[in-house]
Amino acid sequence: MKPLIGVSARTRTIAGGLGALPAHAVPRAYTAAVAQAGGVPVILPCTEPEVAVEAAGHCDGLLLTGGEDIDPVRYGRRGDGPVFDVDPERDRFEFALARAARDRGQPLLAVCRGMQVVNVALGGDLVVDIPSEVGEAVLHRLPQDGAVPDHPVRLEPGSTLAAAVGTERVVVNSSHHQAIRMLGAGLRPVAWSDDGLIEAVETDGWPCLGVQWHPEHRPPDNPGSRAPFAVLVDAAADADRR
Ligand code: MN
Repeated sequence: MKPLIGVSARTRTIAGGLGALPAHAVPRAYTAAVAQAGGVPVILPCTEPEVAVEAAGHCDGLLLTGGEDIDPVRYGRRGDGPVFDVDPERDRFEFALARAARDRGQPLLAVCRGMQVVNVALGGDLVVDIPSEVGEAVLHRLPQDGAVPDHPVRLEPGSTLAAAVGTERVVVNSSHHQAIRMLGAGLRPVAWSDDGLIEAVETDGWPCLGVQWHPEHRPPDNPGSRAPFAVLVDAAADADRR
């Protein structure tokens, strides 16, 4: 049996004969990347935390997807910096998934916002806005929608990520204006951009990988692209066999 990978959805509005309806949405690049890595993707709807945790319990692994900024009240920075598209319902849903995965030792891949969710859920905090707090020596996001810059990252030798990527320096895409500041409990940085920001984390004693870039949007031949999904699906396959 291929491992079942739960993929967290966001809420979007769809239009139809009944008018504008709230719907569960996942960019298809995520489910395609899970399938290409040998997993079976299932979409986890953005529901009450108890229901979400129950649904995730049926999965062998989890993928927390990218998206909106976390409500800064979650890490004590209400009122600081520009913050975009906060969705407290999605925060509740994904914070519950992250903590349940940690408690269960469930394999987890957390992409962009997902990595920030794991970090804050485990007690860390964020740079609210990179340009105003860190500067623009490295461009992590461009103002135009759809324009995605690239930048190199340095990988920690000996990390699971470096082993999967097969090199210690890789060019990644970048579409974030926030970043990890203080690390959450049990997280270790395993990749950095040239301005010193954390671009990936791993955990001890629990198969969890967070990446700040969007591997689902890279061409498959990019070494930073398929590796995170291979790490997730391999760990989920191991969990399935236990
Ligand atoms: Mn970046």
